[in-house]
Amino acid sequence: MKPSVSIKDLTLSFGNVKVLENLNLDIAEGEFIVLLGPSGCGKSTLLNCIAGLLEISDGQIFISGKNVTWEEPKNRGIGMVFQSYALYPQMTVERNLSFGLRVAGMPKAEIDKRVARAAEILQIQPLLQRKPANLSGGQRQRVAIGRALVRDVDVFLFDEPLSNLDAKLRSDLRVEIKRLHQRLKNTMIYVTHDQIEALTLANRIAIMKNGVIQQLADPHTIYNKPTNLYVADFIGSPS
Ligand code: ADP
Ligand code: MG
Repeated sequence: MKPSVSIKDLTLSFGNVKVLENLNLDIAEGEFIVLLGPSGCGKSTLLNCIAGLLEISDGQIFISGKNVTWEEPKNRGIGMVFQSYALYPQMTVERNLSFGLRVAGMPKAEIDKRVARAAEILQIQPLLQRKPANLSGGQRQRVAIGRALVRDVDVFLFDEPLSNLDAKLRSDLRVEIKRLHQRLKNTMIYVTHDQIEALTLANRIAIMKNGVIQQLADPHTIYNKPTNLYVADFIGSPS
């Protein structure tokens, strides 16, 4: 396995409270891994450590073979999609997609090429001149994914990207995210508390409880051979 993301003995405390302790996780290049668990188990904290948005207490993080433990978020080769869309409300979709690239000083021709490709992949070409207020929740989330896509990142990080959407949109976008992964073959780390999302999207699922990975395996194994009652209960295995 060629590792894309390696987490070594990661410990993270908020004050005196250890939320993650000596956590180890190797994610293969091109893998779609889902971090699954109930609210408060430390999924977002782990994702934010990988993204560099939290200073870790101990341990190391490697991305694409490089030790990024002390690297700034923008230099980690990652793109992040959150539950709230975090789009710039005053800018058109086109501007929202291109803004970061402009700031980075990329030539206009290259920016246009990347925006066009992202718009095509996510099927948002007709929306490019609209502003976020005139988009549906699902369309906004596509634009948020597009912003990671134009940056040509190695690793996508998703934090409950579908939680704010209604059931129909959720299942549509789930299919779309799966298709995106099949097309791009990037490494994707996807946080959710939704068992269906985990079972349909993941190559492997890491089930978490209180900051500890209880089982790490492919969906079939997790569902049919849960290693303990907690996993069986959470994933809804037949008893
Ligand atoms: P999840 O994403 O799985 O719902 P989180 O990673 O957000 O869980 O939170 C894990 C634990 O860390 C929770 O007990 C939460 O209350 C605590 N926590 C999260 N962020 C902070 C913070 N900034 N300060 C103190 N405690 C926090
Ligand atoms: Mg969370």
